[in-house]
Amino acid sequence: MQSIVSLCKRRGFVYQSSEIYGGLKSAYDYGPMGVELKRNLMNEWWTSMVHSREDVVGLDASIIMHPNVWKASGHLSSFSDPLVDCKVCGERFRADKAPKAEEGADAPMELPDKGKAKAALDKLEKMGEAGLTRNGKSILGAKAGDRGYVCSVCGSPFLSEERQFNLMFRSSLGPVDPMGAAADKIKAVLNEQGPEALQASLRKILEDAVQSTAVYLRPETAQAMFVNFLNVQQSLSMKVPFGIAQMGKSFRNEVTVEHFIFRSCEFEQMEMEYFVQPGTSEKWLEHWSQARMDWWQKIGLSKDKLRLRAHESDELAHYSPATNDVEYLFPWGWDELEGVASRTDYDLTAHTNASKKKLQYFDPEATNPETGKKGWRYLPHVIEPAAGATRGLLAALCDAYAEEPGDEQGKGARTVLRLHPRLAPIKAGILPLVKKEGMPEVARRIADDFFKAGVTAKYDEQHAIGKRYARHDEVGTPYCLTVDGDTAKDETVTIRYRDDRRQERIKVTEALEVVKKALADA
Ligand code: ATP
Repeated sequence: MQSIVSLCKRRGFVYQSSEIYGGLKSAYDYGPMGVELKRNLMNEWWTSMVHSREDVVGLDASIIMHPNVWKASGHLSSFSDPLVDCKVCGERFRADKAPKAEEGADAPMELPDKGKAKAALDKLEKMGEAGLTRNGKSILGAKAGDRGYVCSVCGSPFLSEERQFNLMFRSSLGPVDPMGAAADKIKAVLNEQGPEALQASLRKILEDAVQSTAVYLRPETAQAMFVNFLNVQQSLSMKVPFGIAQMGKSFRNEVTVEHFIFRSCEFEQMEMEYFVQPGTSEKWLEHWSQARMDWWQKIGLSKDKLRLRAHESDELAHYSPATNDVEYLFPWGWDELEGVASRTDYDLTAHTNASKKKLQYFDPEATNPETGKKGWRYLPHVIEPAAGATRGLLAALCDAYAEEPGDEQGKGARTVLRLHPRLAPIKAGILPLVKKEGMPEVARRIADDFFKAGVTAKYDEQHAIGKRYARHDEVGTPYCLTVDGDTAKDETVTIRYRDDRRQERIKVTEALEVVKKALADA
């Protein structure tokens, strides 16, 4: 994983945000190569979900929505993680993601060094914990409690109570400063009722002030599709089953950020809500789970590193009868790439109740199961394939990354990104062998043809040709076109293929078509 992170920085895929100021935890910037890769991935998703289907249309909704959306959807009250503090190392972590430990099982703790272990043992003894011993940086003798888990960092079973923590980022909308009103209220309570009364009501005064202008950054793109269900259905006369797709930024104040861009606070999602007739969800869940598995393979992820995992009954959201996760074998193990959830009519019902607007769909052809007559008005059920774009980008990088050792002397060793050609940030490197003898001019003409045709190409004359190939291998450029001494004689260039380093001569005039065809066939 470390090699991928360092390649990302070295070659301009992903940088730590605000790095010159020491970086911001869990925020990342996508550099010149990263932005292309992310766009290509998201465009592939859009093409497959929207442009190549008649039954799915797109949406681009605002990131800040009416706060009642989040009340109705349940995000304000329940979009929270159970948080725990470790009393030994101070780590704050998610209880549901902590390492499991059976009650009564040994719970050895490991601190970063001997000094910290000694200090931790002193602290535990002061807390009244007896029977513990230290061995180097380990503390032994503790047993797991009835929580069923231990600290995710040091392994300690000495933990605080679980607390709920809302994951939505709160901001305020409007020109009124809510703190001004809060200050006036505080002064009034202090003057009229005294400090004790203020102490009792301080939190409520502040909370009321903040709530009066509170808005939230969306934690998922999905709710906009539910809220716009009727708008979209009516303006395009969509017939159930149909879907609304959206991709874009989402924000979660994640407690545990992990594995580089895998889990960050600002990320991009690609989600689609597919509205179906009640009673047909099972069939559509099956359909979309398979379709999504196929798509991840189509854009280059290895088949043996993808699996579909059905949620156990204790994992399912309370409204979901079934959910399948598309999981990818990341360097740290299997983890979620996309969730395909059957959500019943939960969301449309919640928004109907909260907004008092009827969100039903009328199908004149369907038979109403209650009356047995033609014409059925119902709330559609929903299948939701919800994928992470930035998480998908990480999976694509992990899958593509390879270090090839070369021959016995290490000759030919290289690092290569075997990205699917359509995901590759640069499709073709256009390289004059040397910066003279008319070669740059021909190379620039070829590059111009590529620019005009909308095929991403990079004219590149810096350094020796071997170095340039190596650079393009590292960013995953699938094809390089080299203009050399023979080009002027026979109007041909060398095309070099990234994956097997094969080289062929092709006509200059055919270069664009050859690359276009290779991309289309990939
Ligand atoms: P997880 O269990 O990993 O927290 P989730 O089940 O909460 O994910 P969903 O709400 O189903 O995730 O969101 C759909 C997809 O969005 C996920 O499958 C994942 O790819 C992506 N995603 C969710 N949270 C994050 C995040 N903090 N950073 C990057 N991608 C994320």
